Amino acid sequence: MPGKTLRTEAVVLRSIRYGEADRILHLYTAQRGRVGAIAKGVRRTKSRFGGRLEPFFRLDLLLHEGRGELLTVTQAGTVDGYPRLRACSAALTAGARACDAVLRLLDSAEPNLPAYNLLCRYLALLDDPGAPDAASLPAALSFRLKLALAAGFSPELASCASCGEAEHLVGFSGAAGGVVCASCEAGAFPLSEDAHRFMVEAIARPLAEAPPAGERELRQAERAIGAILEHHAHVQLRSAA
Ligand SMILES: [Zn+2]
Repeated sequence: MPGKTLRTEAVVLRSIRYGEADRILHLYTAQRGRVGAIAKGVRRTKSRFGGRLEPFFRLDLLLHEGRGELLTVTQAGTVDGYPRLRACSAALTAGARACDAVLRLLDSAEPNLPAYNLLCRYLALLDDPGAPDAASLPAALSFRLKLALAAGFSPELASCASCGEAEHLVGFSGAAGGVVCASCEAGAFPLSEDAHRFMVEAIARPLAEAPPAGERELRQAERAIGAILEHHAHVQLRSAA
């Protein structure tokens, strides 16, 4: 086979049946960012790939790059299959939303190792029996904020995104790119002090230590993250939980 070989770790974001026995995979790779690949014969009972070309699997892959748009999977080893995540419906839902967010937000073939590592850390946390809150809304939003940061779309949280004022920050504006003060509030929506604090702390703390917050504050934070990504990355994310 002419062409090049790429060896990389990757997480399977989506896996779609194709034809009689093949699968099309949406992968988030460590070396190449988002790539599409085809795995042939994977649905035959004796396939050498086993059942590992499924969503959430973290794999060590050999990919053949020919002239087509899709790479071809030639070898696949499991780095982590996250079996406990798979056995828990809340964790499965949270993992699916995380993969969907990566799929929508990081659509380029540029490598983004912080984003790759963040996704792996979140899946590992969802798989960790010692982290029962990993599938909660605070953790899901913490992941989303860190993902926005890794993708280059972090909201301005330290001072008014319009005028730089550091006090009286009362709203959030997706267009302005962050929190806004009382004088720049036009077009913004209200962001409570607690919701603001949640966002600042969630970015600063490790993923496993997402700060607690009330439902109302969390929904404001979710709306703020959504507004930033809609205005600046032109993507809409599904509800976080
Ligand atoms: Zn202002």
